[in-house]
Amino acid sequence: MSTDWNLGTASYKRFKEGWGVACGTSVGRNRRFPSHQVEALKPFTTFRKAEHLPVPQQEAMYRDLLDTTREYVELRLSDLTRRYPDERLVLLCWCDLSLPGAYCHRRWAAGWFADTYGLVVPELTDELWAAQRRAERAAKVTAVEDQPPLF
Ligand SMILES: [Zn+2]
Repeated sequence: MSTDWNLGTASYKRFKEGWGVACGTSVGRNRRFPSHQVEALKPFTTFRKAEHLPVPQQEAMYRDLLDTTREYVELRLSDLTRRYPDERLVLLCWCDLSLPGAYCHRRWAAGWFADTYGLVVPELTDELWAAQRRAERAAKVTAVEDQPPLF
């Protein structure tokens, strides 16, 4: 199974269309804009069932779920990557991580992707987006300068 997925995470509220392909990973769906659904990443075992437990325990339960549904995660993300080969898949849910002490299964998923596949899955923000645009522009300028003169 190829895992050359280009992934990021964000909240529905902050997501901007240019960031990539909207992929819903929340139990409650967003109906404000269309998104693909990644059922295998939805926290069905913890959402409203384990919220009374300590956070590390909730995360462990969620990771157990991903270990169980791993095959479906891989099939779905590979399918979406084939459909949108040059785009980032943005894993979305409702949680606002700007609040102090905030936690969210999308970042637990990011940790699981790092540990399981060695993938870096950033939380996308306006600042990160602007920094990436700057880096891409700089890379283009360098690439042009690297070309040998025609005459
Ligand atoms: Zn969340």
